[in-house]
Amino acid sequence: PPVVTARGVTKAYGRTRALAGVDLAVRAGEVLGLVGHNGAGKSTLMRVLAGLEPCDTGTVLVHGRQASAGDFRTVRMAYQETSLCPDLTVAENMWVSSRHCLPRVRWRRAASDAVRRRLDEMFPGHGVSPRDRVEDLSLSRRQMVEIARACLVDRLDLLILDEPTESLGPDAARSLYAYVRRLTEAGTAVLLISHRIREVLSVADRVAVLRDGAVTAERPASGLTEPD
Ligand code: ADP
Ligand code: ADP
Repeated sequence: PPVVTARGVTKAYGRTRALAGVDLAVRAGEVLGLVGHNGAGKSTLMRVLAGLEPCDTGTVLVHGRQASAGDFRTVRMAYQETSLCPDLTVAENMWVSSRHCLPRVRWRRAASDAVRRRLDEMFPGHGVSPRDRVEDLSLSRRQMVEIARACLVDRLDLLILDEPTESLGPDAARSLYAYVRRLTEAGTAVLLISHRIREVLSVADRVAVLRDGAVTAERPASGLTEPD
């Protein structure tokens, strides 16, 4: 079964219907691109798939089974808006957010080593030190740290990337997608949300279009052409 499956997922905020019956599956080893205009429900869907928010009706299956909180251990998200604590260092951020679920980073020192190693692997020449305070980093370096944190787990099941290249330069973006390719080759499922259509088409294996809270099209990326 797919790593994560949404079946008839609905979600409303008061009278605003964010998701109106979404059917979607992300399979091991693929990059599924998710595109859609502002307000289409992309972020909501992402949070529901990651188990960060419950849906109103419908089901989310993880490896074919009804999802419960514990199933999301290896789901990681890299957010468009940074979720790093600005007044902590890079290493402290890793430690604070991951020490409960990643035995490897139970100690601060280990968190520092882990993030350094991951950054080296993902973004050669990143120029970030684990001792740097997040608020002193450029936007692009913050985004690298955010993404590296999402990838700290080994054998990641599902990686959700929300506008990951928004503040990255072209070299870092290329490095990121090369790394994403290595993850999918190792079996990770990747959900890529971006308004950069050309980027999505070049990176994703399949693309789903979300419109007014429902998936209106889902096809192989190779079958789509770039709109003007
Ligand atoms: P997208 O990420 O595609 O821009 P969202 O999932 O953010 O779409 O939003 C879908 C709809 O749900 C929008 O109408 C938005 O205003 C609404 N919405 C999203 N999150 C909330 C929230 N926490 N509270 C109220 N309304 C929300
Ligand atoms: P516990 O309650 O057993 O400590 P949590 O479910 O709170 O475990 O998760 C521990 C840490 O894992 C959290 O601090 C959070 O940062 C991270 N985490 C949990 N679920 C997700 C997720 N879906 N995406 C990203 N990080 C997550």
